[in-house]
Amino acid sequence: MEKTDILSLPYDELIEYVQNRGEKAFRGKQLYQWMHQHLAESFDAMQNLPKSFKEGLDRDCNYHILKSVDLQISQLDGTRKYLFELADGNMVEAVLMHYKHGDSVCISSQVGCKMGCRFCASTLDGWLRNLTPAEMLGQVYSIQRDIWKSMGLTKAPSIGSEEYTNSRISNLVVMGTGEPLDNYENLLTFIRMLTDEHGLNLSQRSITVSTCGLVPKIKALGEEKLGITLALSLHAPNQQKRQELMPIARTYEIHEVVDALREYQNTTGRRVSFEYSLVAGVNDSDGDARELSELIGDIHGHVNLIPVNPIKERDFKSPSHQAAVAFQKKLENCGINVTIRREMGRDIDGACGQLRRRHIHP
Ligand code: SAH
Repeated sequence: MEKTDILSLPYDELIEYVQNRGEKAFRGKQLYQWMHQHLAESFDAMQNLPKSFKEGLDRDCNYHILKSVDLQISQLDGTRKYLFELADGNMVEAVLMHYKHGDSVCISSQVGCKMGCRFCASTLDGWLRNLTPAEMLGQVYSIQRDIWKSMGLTKAPSIGSEEYTNSRISNLVVMGTGEPLDNYENLLTFIRMLTDEHGLNLSQRSITVSTCGLVPKIKALGEEKLGITLALSLHAPNQQKRQELMPIARTYEIHEVVDALREYQNTTGRRVSFEYSLVAGVNDSDGDARELSELIGDIHGHVNLIPVNPIKERDFKSPSHQAAVAFQKKLENCGINVTIRREMGRDIDGACGQLRRRHIHP
């Protein structure tokens, strides 16, 4: 019999699962809290559960804790980049960034990626598989345990205490390897579980999902009416330039994508944001800034400029800081909210997919 992926079961499904095993519903609640609030590392560690119940779970379920097989820590800003090993031996990256307003975690949604964006290291080896909700949660939970460890704690602070709330990660971005909307159902389950009151209970407002622009999925996501922020990787001011950088633009034309974002904003009432990787001589001219402001000027949103993080497999160069600031000013003059993304972890393999790739191709 195939083992149950117990960490992927949302609260209601877990209660039902436990009841089907002949246990009372409250055992399901306790079990959920052990897995998703205390972040227990084994069934054995779940103190108030009967031994026979735990042994049965051990026999019938997979409960794999992601272990970090490599960790890089930035000397510049303390950013920590983790390489986690999954149960099948595949590896995924996740990042912890410290900001003034709290800790932000960036996770991967797939093993590899099939979108083929030209400047991105995550896609160079193609796509292997989707991550399960458990594997997305697992990245967050392993990092949360590491935060507690760095505070000198050997286990979770008491649930509901100020220490628990204050040490909890405050923001989550799905901007690591993979296209989250290409793993739509698992992504939604993951978001629902991460924001469940019986779990880590993050607010939906503290979650950002970034997409290369899968139009039908953006529309479906809008209908879910979640409180999350949607970010679109735009990277170009017009169709011709976008399709040179992003093959997905050949499937969904730039205006179609921007319209889908407009619609997302109207249905959800949430602000949207745009990612724009600045590539010297490719998309960073005055004309590009003007065209970009015409394209998205009417959308209540925010543009994040990311000077491209050059990868050795491609010949893309990052513009100088002055050139990035000039581009920012140009957009601001057109009334657009813009920030230049602080380049966290520049001294480690900061760009998506670089650390994993270094391990696949030593
Ligand atoms: N597939 C999703 C999320 C993953 S990538 C998406 O496309 O949005 C997160 C962001 O980093 C995307 O905007 C991506 O285009 C950008 N990115 C990837 N590699 C980069 C690099 N080398 N330099 C700058 N930005 C990069």
